[in-house]
Amino acid sequence: MIKLAELKNFAKIFLTGIYENLERIIFGSERYTSLEMRKAILTGTVKIPKTVIEELCIGCEGCANVCPTNAIEMIPIEPVKITENYVKDKIPKINPEKCVYCLYCHDFCPVFSVFNEISPIHPRDVGEDYIEIDVSKLLQKKVEISEEQINKISSILSINLRRIIKDKS
Ligand code: SF4
Ligand code: SF4
Repeated sequence: MIKLAELKNFAKIFLTGIYENLERIIFGSERYTSLEMRKAILTGTVKIPKTVIEELCIGCEGCANVCPTNAIEMIPIEPVKITENYVKDKIPKINPEKCVYCLYCHDFCPVFSVFNEISPIHPRDVGEDYIEIDVSKLLQKKVEISEEQINKISSILSINLRRIIKDKS
């Protein structure tokens, strides 16, 4: 059972933390908080970073399958025909409360690991500046990684994409 003294201590630490953080945000110099971030906090305009570039994602489910904490949910979308035999019908969404920032989703994503383009997923911030690529041409690109790597990556992909990649190797 928690004693009163422990509760008082806990409340003191909690309140001190709140006070120090507010003091840091309001009066701190850029040594503690960047001026840009301080301004965004004070004006309520903090931007939530983007974690998925939907246009680059091919909806293969690899990130969701490799995630060790099940932090990625595949959200259904209006189907988009990418090639004659491949349709994208879902895109990933990261739950930040479950993410442990291992970066497996980023590193195993076939757009990055197989086709050598930037990864369409990053748990912190995928960034806004990216080169537009034609995903239909992406799936026709020559695969230049070893068979061992292809086998490893293929094992986490949706069966449809696994077949496409295997056919190319
Ligand atoms: S592994 Fe990459 S391409 Fe596949 S669903 Fe995830 S982000 Fe999209
Ligand atoms: S970085 Fe987060 S979302 Fe990505 S695989 Fe690791 S735990 Fe899952």
